[in-house]
Amino acid sequence: MHMEELWLNNTARKSVIRCGDGAFAAYMPLHRGESLFVVTDRNVMYYYQDLLQKTLGPDVPVYVLPAGESTKCMRYLKKILDAMCEAGLKRNSRVIAFGGGVVGDIAGLAASLYMRGINLTQVPTTLLAQVDSSVGGKTAIDYNDVKNLIGAFYQPDEVIVDPMFLQTLPKREVKCGLGEIVKYAAIDAGIFDALANWPEKIFPLDFLSALTMDCIRHKARVVESDERDSGGDRKSLNMGHTTGHAFELYFKGMSHGEFVMIGMYFELYIARALSVCTGPYADELERLIMKAERRIPFLDDARAGAAKAKTDKKNDSSGTISVILPVSKGEWTERKIPVEEYLDMIDKCAQETWPL
Ligand code: ADP
Ligand code: ZN
Repeated sequence: MHMEELWLNNTARKSVIRCGDGAFAAYMPLHRGESLFVVTDRNVMYYYQDLLQKTLGPDVPVYVLPAGESTKCMRYLKKILDAMCEAGLKRNSRVIAFGGGVVGDIAGLAASLYMRGINLTQVPTTLLAQVDSSVGGKTAIDYNDVKNLIGAFYQPDEVIVDPMFLQTLPKREVKCGLGEIVKYAAIDAGIFDALANWPEKIFPLDFLSALTMDCIRHKARVVESDERDSGGDRKSLNMGHTTGHAFELYFKGMSHGEFVMIGMYFELYIARALSVCTGPYADELERLIMKAERRIPFLDDARAGAAKAKTDKKNDSSGTISVILPVSKGEWTERKIPVEEYLDMIDKCAQETWPL
């Protein structure tokens, strides 16, 4: 059993990431006897109720959300906070966010609000949440139809990443995580090599979960240097996201991770068109994206979809679109592109991808 501990020291609150097969069984019992409050969803509860009760005792209070992004809202935030009050949580109590990104986001926000912030353990159970959302301390709910509009930076003091949970994950959810892993490949040379040198046609789950620690290590380093996302290295984590988010808002129907992968594909086209990323590396990166995505799903009117990028929180007021582009292995750059120029390149890429 290989277990790894990673400490984040430069953040507002000290934070440890405990990762490895058996991490849940090894570290969770350390909290027995503390005042705990678990937030999870129905699917996770279905698979892991017994494990949870065996690990934390039969009387641990659990709030079970219905599954899906629609619970990331004020109504459920209030329900969770009400249940926390009812359970009589104190300043030294601990919230355990046990589930995917949705559970992590809303339970993390609840933990940050209750008595101005109580202890928080994140136990991400999806590949996407393990590689991405559980590290970095971003918590939020959706509001007025805007994703993640109401939220806080709230670093969990502990993250437990156990690949065991991925065994029950539907294939589709594995693919969501793959989208973010491909993003890491484009900003981290080691992850790039691991994926590019993988000899088989598909990426099996155990191969991908062996990469989670590399992704987490990368993200942890970046977050430490830029906890509040103020424009330093943390920007690199937005690769594929400007276009991916815009498409996600416009087309719906696919998951965040899949849209990120499609966003990467379009933004690689832009990087080539601007001569930011060229030659064999660009070809290799394209092969990698195509290996993960096989066929870029047809999007009707990609230009209109990409226009949603105008509303991105990350743009400044200068009328440009900010994109994070690949340069060479492990290297990236930010470009601010005038809206029309950006949309023209998206359009051209779409025409070449799906010729009539
Ligand atoms: P994210 O993809 O952002 O992590 P969710 O929290 O919505 O998003 O999780 C995706 C779906 O996977 C949800 O339906 C959730 O209930 C389910 N799920 C989460 N973890 C597991 C798991 N370990 N096994 C099976 N299903 C899971
Ligand atoms: Zn993302």
